[in-house]
Amino acid sequence: MHTSALVLFSGGQDSATCLVYALERYARVETIAFDYRQRHHVELDARHVVLREIRNQFPYWGNKLAEDHVLDLAVLGAVSETSLTRDTAFKMEASGLPNTFVPGRNLLFLTLAAAVAYRRDLQVIVTGVCETDYSGYPDCRDDTIKAMQLALSLGMDKRFLLETPLMWIDKAATWAWAHTLGARRDALCGGQKLVDLIVEHTHTCYLGDRQHRHPWGYGCGTCPACELRKNGFEKFKAEGASLS
Ligand code: ZN
Repeated sequence: MHTSALVLFSGGQDSATCLVYALERYARVETIAFDYRQRHHVELDARHVVLREIRNQFPYWGNKLAEDHVLDLAVLGAVSETSLTRDTAFKMEASGLPNTFVPGRNLLFLTLAAAVAYRRDLQVIVTGVCETDYSGYPDCRDDTIKAMQLALSLGMDKRFLLETPLMWIDKAATWAWAHTLGARRDALCGGQKLVDLIVEHTHTCYLGDRQHRHPWGYGCGTCPACELRKNGFEKFKAEGASLS
């Protein structure tokens, strides 16, 4: 029986939903993030606000929240020429991958997460990677994660479970799932309170825009991350409207 988890929590919509999932399922949940000198600090700042709001608004989950770890990964920025860490425009490369791709980033994240999980005696590592509607980063694919689970379990001689609850669902389904999870701990609002928390406090925009507020949250509205979030939210709303 698994009772404890470490969630890779970046402060975005996906990882916030994964965090709530883990808080619903496990007795003790720790969080981890990586500072690799992203071109803005907004997402890392957002995560503290999300953690605070979960504690304030959902005490059942808040009581299970334990240590938060932020690891300095400046070295990743030093070896990567990408539009996530440099002030260059987004574009698709000849490889078919966007220039936001940081080679091996997720492999490094998972390895360090496993090292922390080992030390903290946490059994499950939860990450919000997804094959469905993202950019096809090869280190976020299901096969890669399964291979990492095996490599980390063998290499550290400890049985880790790597969970990827969002792997096969799209952004609209991620919003819908947050709504369902929220309803479990807030029957009165029927899930809206958690959706509102995610809209207001999580951050997705590549450009770090916290000036422009849309129905789906803050962001520039035009970068690939904003577009995904916006389209997913609108589809979720349309599907919700057609159900009721
Ligand atoms: Zn944006």
